[in-house]
Amino acid sequence: MMRSRDRAVSEQIEIALEAAERGDGTIPIVEAGDPILRQPTVPFDGQVDDDVLLQLLLAMRLTVRSAPGVGLACPQVGIGLRLAVVEDPATVPEDVARVRERELLPFTPLINPEYRDASGELASFYEGCLSVPGYQAVVPRHRKIILSAQDNEGTAYEREVTGWSARIVQHETDHLDGILYLDRAEMRSLATNEQVARWWNQPDAQAAALALGFELPDTPIM
Ligand code: ZN
Repeated sequence: MMRSRDRAVSEQIEIALEAAERGDGTIPIVEAGDPILRQPTVPFDGQVDDDVLLQLLLAMRLTVRSAPGVGLACPQVGIGLRLAVVEDPATVPEDVARVRERELLPFTPLINPEYRDASGELASFYEGCLSVPGYQAVVPRHRKIILSAQDNEGTAYEREVTGWSARIVQHETDHLDGILYLDRAEMRSLATNEQVARWWNQPDAQAAALALGFELPDTPIM
């Protein structure tokens, strides 16, 4: 017999895919304040068959590309499942890419992901979230992590991830634990997208830290 939690997840997937089909193929993104963004997720263990999983991943890929964004977690599309997708074309100026260690991240589904710090170093930059539209804030993140997840066949793997890609993986995996980036942000850095573009588009966050009055971590946390 299907556990009731899992039935809820397969129903949530069905609702999301129906919404995508009725509209332009993208799934509506839920915004901060919706309780699903604060609830824990259930691990993926075959609640839906491969066909439906593939449909979901394709709809999430279209949704994140259309937004546009670099990552999308299941709770953001109303599904309480431990699954997210990440993809970063990294189309930013060369100096920004170098300072932020931002490199091409191919489309990757994260199935049952977890992460742990792998360097003891933090990196702080502005980031935003599709579920908190209009705003960005500086978030200290582990510069290097070990990502543990499963591939499509359910085989566990571990992978070292660095720089901006590590930031994206941490942000999306946090969503699966009911954590929003604002929970970890320097709140004095909070800025609208317009003000980030006007004042804080430098490669690093030093000028913002000085002017807005927040600390940048310069010491390892380990
Ligand atoms: Zn987010």
